[in-house]
Amino acid sequence: MPPASDPPQGACIFCSIARHEAPARIVHEDEQTIAFLDIFPLSRGHTLVVPKAHVDRLTDLPPDQYAPLMSTLARVCRRVEKMSRHYNIGINQGALAGQIVFHLHFHVIPRYEDQPTFPRHRRGITDQEAVELAALLSTDASPPG
Ligand code: 5GP
Ligand code: ZN
Repeated sequence: MPPASDPPQGACIFCSIARHEAPARIVHEDEQTIAFLDIFPLSRGHTLVVPKAHVDRLTDLPPDQYAPLMSTLARVCRRVEKMSRHYNIGINQGALAGQIVFHLHFHVIPRYEDQPTFPRHRRGITDQEAVELAALLSTDASPPG
C-alpha cells in the first residue's frame, strides 16, 4: 500500500506531463527522465528534473534509475550555466519539507546578483518568457573555443 500522502497515479500532474497529456515547457526528455520549466518559478530559469516512473521519494527510486536521473540533472545544470553559474539544487521530501507534488523531482534554481538571498516569492511567467527560456535551456552550451 502506498503511504496516504501519495495521490493516485492517474491524478499525478508530473505523470501527465511525462505522458504528454498535460502541457509543459519541456527542455529535455529521454526514455527515463524529463525536465521542464517550473510553472511558478522562484527565479528565471527554475527547472524541474523528473524521473518518468512515478515514485514519491528518492528512497523509492529503483537504483537503476539513479544514473539516468543524475545525467539529466547534470545536463540541465550545464544548460542553466549559460544563464548563471550560481544555482541551488534541491528536493523537498514530505509535506513538512514543502513537497506539494508527490512525484520525485529535483529543483534547479538559478541565482542572480539582483536576488542575493534565496527567493521566497514565486512569480508568474509570460508565454513569451517561457518560450525564450525553454529555447535557451533546450540546447547544450557550445564547447569552448
Ligand atoms: P515541490 O514543492 O513539490 O518540491 O515543488 C513542486 C513544484 O512543481 C513547484 O515549484 C510548482 O511550482 C511546480 N508545479 C506544480 N504544478 C505544476 C505544473 O502543472 N506544471 C509545472 N511545470 N510545474 C508545476
Ligand atoms: Zn507521478
